[in-house]
Amino acid sequence: MAPIPPVPENDMSSAAAPRSEAFAAAAAGVIAMARYAGERHWVPATSGNFSVRIDGRLAALTATGADKARLVEDEVIEAEISGPKHPRASAEAPLHLARYAADSAIGAIAHIHSLPATLLSRRHEAEGALRLEGWELLKAFTGIKTHEIALDIPIVPNDQDTDRLAALVEERLKSAGPVPGYLIAGHGLYVWGATAKDAIRHMEAFDFLLTAELSEENAK
Ligand SMILES: [Zn+2]
Repeated sequence: MAPIPPVPENDMSSAAAPRSEAFAAAAAGVIAMARYAGERHWVPATSGNFSVRIDGRLAALTATGADKARLVEDEVIEAEISGPKHPRASAEAPLHLARYAADSAIGAIAHIHSLPATLLSRRHEAEGALRLEGWELLKAFTGIKTHEIALDIPIVPNDQDTDRLAALVEERLKSAGPVPGYLIAGHGLYVWGATAKDAIRHMEAFDFLLTAELSEENAK
């Protein structure tokens, strides 16, 4: 994984309100995920967004419009999980915040527009899920101990109303069983983990698995 950038020792010199150490640590995790994905071209044209839970009430989130491969702390905002919308939040912030509200085990979330995720999400939209089965690398996901498993990754239709989309996602995930992520048709992938490090591993595993799946389907 990409090295986690150093956290500034003292943020008090900035003109803005002082941010907590907990925010700085969370922002470092957001930056690590964003740069990792940016370097791999999974977030083209300032798309994608990343977040890390600070506590039960707050999360650090990428601000709208940032170049994720070159993300810096000023482009990370502190948002309330169940509060009013932050003025610099991206349109997709509700999709992050709804996950934190629904599952206290989630500590970090990444949203990427990688090519295999985008292609497969559109191809399998009518089925409502993409089945990943029999691949050794499924074991990279937390809690999975064997390749002898079928993981159905939910696919939801895309929607520019992200509050409505977040509600639909949470409804679908209630019946999906434990999954490390979901796909939005023709759009991309949401993936999470207990920490930013776990979310990075899960991003990397998804990229490998979806690339393998796409290659295999295309060869048929
Ligand atoms: Zn997106």
